[in-house]
Amino acid sequence: MEFAAFATHAAEIEAEPADLEIVDLVTELFEDAGETDDDLAILARFVQGRVFPAWDSTTLDIGPRSCYEAIARAAGRNVSAADVEDDLAEVGEIGAVAAGYEFGGQQGLGAFTGGGTNDLTVREVHETLIDLAAAEGSGSQDRKVDLLFSLFNRCSSEEARYLARIVLSEMRIGVGEGTVRDGIAAAFDVPADRVERALQVSNDYGRVAVVAREEGLEGLDALDLELGRPVQAMLAQAGTVTDALESWDETAVEWKYDGARVQVHYDGEETTVFSRNMENVTDALPEVVEFAEEFLEQPAILDGEVVAVDEEGDPLPFQEVLRRFRRKHDVAKAREDVTVEPVFFDCLHVAGEDLLDDPLVERHDRLESLLSDGEGLSKLWLTGDSEAIEEIDADALESGHEGIMLKDPASTYSPGRRGKHWLKRKPDVETLDLVVTGAEWGEGRRATFLGTFLLSVRDGDGYETIGKVATGITDETLAELTDRLEPHIRTQEGQTVDLEPAVVFEVGYEEIQSSPTYSAGYALRFPRFLGVREDKDPEDAETLERVLELQGT
Ligand code: AMP
Repeated sequence: MEFAAFATHAAEIEAEPADLEIVDLVTELFEDAGETDDDLAILARFVQGRVFPAWDSTTLDIGPRSCYEAIARAAGRNVSAADVEDDLAEVGEIGAVAAGYEFGGQQGLGAFTGGGTNDLTVREVHETLIDLAAAEGSGSQDRKVDLLFSLFNRCSSEEARYLARIVLSEMRIGVGEGTVRDGIAAAFDVPADRVERALQVSNDYGRVAVVAREEGLEGLDALDLELGRPVQAMLAQAGTVTDALESWDETAVEWKYDGARVQVHYDGEETTVFSRNMENVTDALPEVVEFAEEFLEQPAILDGEVVAVDEEGDPLPFQEVLRRFRRKHDVAKAREDVTVEPVFFDCLHVAGEDLLDDPLVERHDRLESLLSDGEGLSKLWLTGDSEAIEEIDADALESGHEGIMLKDPASTYSPGRRGKHWLKRKPDVETLDLVVTGAEWGEGRRATFLGTFLLSVRDGDGYETIGKVATGITDETLAELTDRLEPHIRTQEGQTVDLEPAVVFEVGYEEIQSSPTYSAGYALRFPRFLGVREDKDPEDAETLERVLELQGT
């Protein structure tokens, strides 16, 4: 296809406000793509402003200034890169700026209306952009400008509009991934959900379009994950323990590690590590490569988190990982400063078998047998019990992790989806500083500790109870809290003690509900102990009035 024809299609799409009509126009574009596979593949990418398949992290690596320079050079002797920049400041969009010039005068080619040679093809543009991306080393920016100039110099104004936008990744004609999916489905008469699956596994719009056209549904269904080509990571949305318990009979609970997402592809010999954005970060993370080579006995694709750890192996804050993550130089030196470790929570492929459609718990079982000695394995608990979840959460925080993830045990792996199957526990909406006015002696191993602390808010001169916090406090902390509270015991009845108000706890919670159980008339849902407010006396604790405010009464 000629690039001019692509530009015409793009202009029509851009002018169309309705989503459904846009799909029709994209369908037409694919139908008009011509016979060769290359053209169709390129168009499926160009229409989204992409040059490379989504799995490929190659970039053009050309700065905006170089692009302005190429435009200026092609626009004639009287135009400078600074002029292009000035126009951009005024017009606000590079496509419109580029379309405002006439090109081709540099080689006497501007004889056509609006300039342009009218013979530039989509494939030539693509090939030149590939050469441009490949230019490296000293003088490469000049070479890139030369190559880009050679394209603009053959462009009409309309072609230049879309070329400039593709080069600067600013296509913005209203075509998203869903539009391309629906366009492929309509153009080649295949179901959209199967196109979607093919896109998820291959991560290559061009290839899926070609397979849909040439091989139909059978071909699409035969597309599989490929080792070395990243898929989009499945994403989580924020949610509460209540959400999880209401959605599923049992919840898969995992620790949420505070690091950076990695997808590891091990083909039996070589390991490639991708970031959440599918960038190849293998060289920056030799520990992950060493891990795969030591512990994986079969080719696999694993999903996990890379965490920075101290000498004891305890996690360090996320910022430390960032110091390692995209590092290109002095990796060995950086490694001496900050060590990283992978933890895997999912498994997409093992030894020739794709697992995306298997339920989470089964994928986790596969992961567990793959990492048979437990090294690098994120633990998964299955439970429907809120107290058990609280305890896992407290252990996670205690071990220096971010909190917990709550997942649907039956869910398949949906690449790129931020769905309700994975919930990252919402950080507490608020915390309250509450007075401890009672407690209960523990049982068994914890018989010498006070636990299950009764919490109160201030109300006038008195206190009203509002909840209890019990789970998820370590033995060590319980011992400390017992030492502090024991001198304040007023009365004791069985296991239950009444405490004079003396100690203030900082408590997180998910929500406040009205409740007849406590004298305040409200109860905290999922209260968690966050610490003792050393700096606060009971008189400084939260009031019932504040609780009413928070509850929205
Ligand atoms: P956020 O970045 O806040 O949207 O949280 C989601 C991210 O948490 C994921 O993309 C992972 O990088 C990270 N994460 C840490 N632990 C887990 C886990 N057990 N399961 C899934 N994601 C996790």
